[in-house]
Amino acid sequence: MTAVDLQELTAMALEEIARADSLDRLDEVRLRYLGRRDGLVTLAGQRLRELAPEQRAAFGQEFNRASGQLRSALETRQRELASGEAQLREDAEWVDMSHPFREADQGHSHPVTGLIREIEDIFAFLGYQSVGGPELEDDQHNFQLLNMPPEHPARDSHDTFYLSPPAGGWLYRTHTSPVQMRAMLGSPPPLRIIVPGKVARRDNPDPTHTPVFHQVEGLCVDHGVTLGDLKGTLEYAIRALFGRDRRVRLRASFFPYTEPSLEADVACAVCQGAGCRTCLQKGWIEILGSGMVHPQVLRNGGVDPETYSGFAFGMGPDRIAVLRYGLTDLRDLYENDLRLLECF
Ligand SMILES: [Zn+2]
Repeated sequence: MTAVDLQELTAMALEEIARADSLDRLDEVRLRYLGRRDGLVTLAGQRLRELAPEQRAAFGQEFNRASGQLRSALETRQRELASGEAQLREDAEWVDMSHPFREADQGHSHPVTGLIREIEDIFAFLGYQSVGGPELEDDQHNFQLLNMPPEHPARDSHDTFYLSPPAGGWLYRTHTSPVQMRAMLGSPPPLRIIVPGKVARRDNPDPTHTPVFHQVEGLCVDHGVTLGDLKGTLEYAIRALFGRDRRVRLRASFFPYTEPSLEADVACAVCQGAGCRTCLQKGWIEILGSGMVHPQVLRNGGVDPETYSGFAFGMGPDRIAVLRYGLTDLRDLYENDLRLLECF
């Protein structure tokens, strides 16, 4: 090993330092030439002892120059690579803080739940309080106190799910009207309540029937409540739900617990009154039954019909949802097909 050999070795090392394209590679080069134990330049330095004394000074000088040059070249290249790698990392991890958020998928209320809340809001504005009641009822509250004693023919229209033998036993309520009785028996007039809830009848499922469905019951009892108040209240609520343009008709009806009784129909949204499968060719869909509370029912609720009068109504939010959203089949609401439910 001579000073010239050392210069050649240094030149090779400088070239490899220049070619190193990552910090890891650069470190390999450093170890190969300047490694403490077996780096090529380090080993060359150890040859100093073997040289003739007159050669030592020149070789020593050359060794110091070479290793200094290599260290400074390594440092420079290390800085270059480090800043380059930091840049790459910055580029890869860069986040545009001004980029708009992609909103997370979030669920929402079922359309019927949404509609029930809307109905509650409409009546809250008119001073009605929303109350609940038991879904499993006794025959007395569901029928007898509402002027439907055992064997009453109107019971036939309530195909009832009985939990024990009929009359006197337990049943799944066929309407929300028993909550009227509970409200009257529970507190004296004035009363303004609406009662949203589930009811059940043994209906075969078809486009306008499901065995379990929803009702929103309403009851107003006070001094001097008239049929005009009922009509005004219903017209207000129906317009709030369907808009001012939807055709509505009120027609005389019969319920054992109201006298007189009225039913409200709205024009079918699917056929605009021409008749279709949804409205069973009638052109109208019944959404509401109502009437002035029968004096005997008031009496059964502990209210004196000489002092007070009242009206009651019950509407079907499932049917209202069908009408509102232009569906063709009530059952679509309960198939839980997210493709449909996400449309609301
Ligand atoms: Zn129709």
